[in-house]
Amino acid sequence: MTLKEYRKKRDFKVTPEPSGDGGGDKGKAARLIYVVQKHRATQLHYDFRLEWNGTLLSWAVPKGPSVDPSVKRLAMQVEDHPIDYANFEGVIPEGEYGGGTVMVWDKGSWEPESPDVDAALKKGDLKFVLHGSKLKGSWVLVRTRGFGSSSGRSSWLLIKHRDQFASDRDIAADEPRSALTNRLLADIARDEGGDAEKAATGDPSAKKAGTGLPAAEKAASSGARKSKKPAVRKRQRSSSR
Ligand code: MN
Repeated sequence: MTLKEYRKKRDFKVTPEPSGDGGGDKGKAARLIYVVQKHRATQLHYDFRLEWNGTLLSWAVPKGPSVDPSVKRLAMQVEDHPIDYANFEGVIPEGEYGGGTVMVWDKGSWEPESPDVDAALKKGDLKFVLHGSKLKGSWVLVRTRGFGSSSGRSSWLLIKHRDQFASDRDIAADEPRSALTNRLLADIARDEGGDAEKAATGDPSAKKAGTGLPAAEKAASSGARKSKKPAVRKRQRSSSR
């Protein structure tokens, strides 16, 4: 509430100052950080992180989170990251660990639904609520046996629970931009001296010649489909007679 005026005076797409909704201000000090970083490294993946016991518990989700409760996304647990990492958006130099472009895809806070988080993590069944700008509502991380267990990394499934925030839309494709800066991966790479061409392969528009006009293209192609349909049907009818 007290940050209202501060925010009103600033355009956070332009200034590097903190907007104060990242959990860093006093009013939110008790909240646990939640962040998803979209990372175009050797393979594109989404790093899903939850603050717990002073660090960020981290899982690499190759396909990214899905808000569709019928979709289970593989989440490989990786090393804990420092709390400060939650604000990292930029370029990791090629040749370094995780070399490539990192975007803060979603950010906010989380609340455990499991009464004892440490016990839930040990058991491999953590229920929680997300308060992000993209991901909201109730979720679960469930540890699975099998794939990855021999490598020392444990594999989990990230699943949306059914609630008012569940949907069958593809949120990773629909909302490809940074929650912090509204940039695409290619924009971040270009701004921070990274490989913009490689980064662009993680952006949805890269599939469409990199024009950045997916809405217009979608409209044009659906129009073309509509006009073709009657002709195809007519041909089928006449050939069957
Ligand atoms: Mn990563």
